[in-house]
Amino acid sequence: MSKETFSNRTSGDLREKDKQKLLLYNRNVTCPVCGNSFNARAIKKSSYRILKRDSDFFIRYSIINPYFYDVWVCDDCGYAAIKNDFLHISDYDADTVKNKITPKWHSKNYPDIYDIDLAIQRYKLSLLNYYVIDARASKKAINFLKIAWMYRLKEDNKNEIKFLNQALKNFNAAYYNESLPICGMDRFTTMYLIGELMRRTGKEEDSLTWFSQVVTSTTASSKIKNMARDQKNLVKDSLENKPHAENQYQQDEDTSRKNKTHGFLSKFLK
Ligand SMILES: [Zn+2]
Repeated sequence: MSKETFSNRTSGDLREKDKQKLLLYNRNVTCPVCGNSFNARAIKKSSYRILKRDSDFFIRYSIINPYFYDVWVCDDCGYAAIKNDFLHISDYDADTVKNKITPKWHSKNYPDIYDIDLAIQRYKLSLLNYYVIDARASKKAINFLKIAWMYRLKEDNKNEIKFLNQALKNFNAAYYNESLPICGMDRFTTMYLIGELMRRTGKEEDSLTWFSQVVTSTTASSKIKNMARDQKNLVKDSLENKPHAENQYQQDEDTSRKNKTHGFLSKFLK
């Protein structure tokens, strides 16, 4: 790389960072675990633009990415959660964080502007907290899903699928064990999402069952029915174009992937 190109790029990055700085502000938060008062970085409303919505509800933004600022972390005690959950922690769970997270926590001194790798790191930290306090499956599910989306942005397909599989497992558990709404979704939206996560992780035959239930429901909204119908047709086309041998291969892949992801989580939480 020539010197000139390098300096152009560096000043471009700086300009970009200055621009992003103007879209952020500090929000004072008191940590419900340790009582420390800290500044959470927050995005000024209306400073981001929606570019596109993916079929599993991931929103692609331009200008600045709100997902990067979705997790709040107390740098004093290591308590982290997705910002909507942050203040809602029971005394019992706060004690668990104090006993199990805080002794191992090293202050991170986060920068003013977050990037995608930092976002992934912070989402993993909040996931770790959800596991330590044994949070509901739906909390873990949305956290896994958001990490998968970050890997999608990075075009890291292997990790995206890994985290989509974990999101699917937890949404499934939430669907059968929790009361509605689940992460703000009604029954049919949850069913659609489960189907869509199955489709995206190669479980196409199984996804058809979920999409069909949404399509044939008499009470689902027409919006979600249309989305389920589109995805059902997509799966049908894909299955028709797939030779039998390839289907078998896909199933083998899924089985080995399942075995791998099981070990993956225990490694990640160590
Ligand atoms: Zn704290």
